[in-house]
Amino acid sequence: MSTQADCIFCKIARGEAPAHRVCEDERTLAFMDIFPVTDGHTLVITKDHFENVFETDEDALAAVARTSHRVAAAIRSELSPDGLMVFQLNGRAAGQTVFHYHMHLMPRAQGVPLALHTRVPGVPARLAELAGRLARALVASAVVFACIGIAGCASNRERELWKNEWNGRLDAMKSDWEHPCATRPFIAWADGFLGDCENEPRGDADCDARLAWVDERVQQCRAWTAWQLRNFNQHQRSEGAAPSMRIE
Ligand code: 5GP
Ligand code: ZN
Repeated sequence: MSTQADCIFCKIARGEAPAHRVCEDERTLAFMDIFPVTDGHTLVITKDHFENVFETDEDALAAVARTSHRVAAAIRSELSPDGLMVFQLNGRAAGQTVFHYHMHLMPRAQGVPLALHTRVPGVPARLAELAGRLARALVASAVVFACIGIAGCASNRERELWKNEWNGRLDAMKSDWEHPCATRPFIAWADGFLGDCENEPRGDADCDARLAWVDERVQQCRAWTAWQLRNFNQHQRSEGAAPSMRIE
């Protein structure tokens, strides 16, 4: 991995500087922008140090696109913004201020004027809450993805491939959570969930049963998420903070 000693985003990627981390995988890391232009403003960076788009390679760009796509879905499910701006700046003339390749994901509200930067720092508690919620939404979407994928598999071979993909996504989610109380038990549950999948309906002949199976698992996932939110609020109360998670 190429890294630069005094680059702030390299320091965050190495875990040497703090950030409200949302998720990471082998090549990318997502965290909350510390000067959010809008609520939910998130950055996706490459773990390798590239100054800008001209220095990146195609694999790194594809990895950032994949993570951005997942985080975008989490932002939509958690914050329901009117719009989402996904953009990336290269060079001072284009407005770039941190010279380590990164993508911005910025929720937008109808009628609010466009801005790319602000100097107003985010409220740490709010950034932490958002990071926790987005992280949890990412796990929830991976669970749903796994349910649908596994149910749709016609053969054991296909099923193994889904399981591997699913495990890969979970592994990527297990590191360094901002709010372990909100996400770790969920991940443990999701891990155990695979064990229940031995007798799921499979194949085209069993379409209705398969859809019912998926539906049941998705409901379980929602119920688990709501329970976990209550848990998180209790944890915050026990630390003397006001509960900040909303229960849907
Ligand atoms: P650029 O202008 O380079 O496209 O965007 C850099 C972004 O990084 C800005 O939105 C800025 O607020 C954000 N930023 C700068 N320093 C830090 C930091 O130390 N931590 C975090 N989380 N964001 C930062
Ligand atoms: Zn860097």
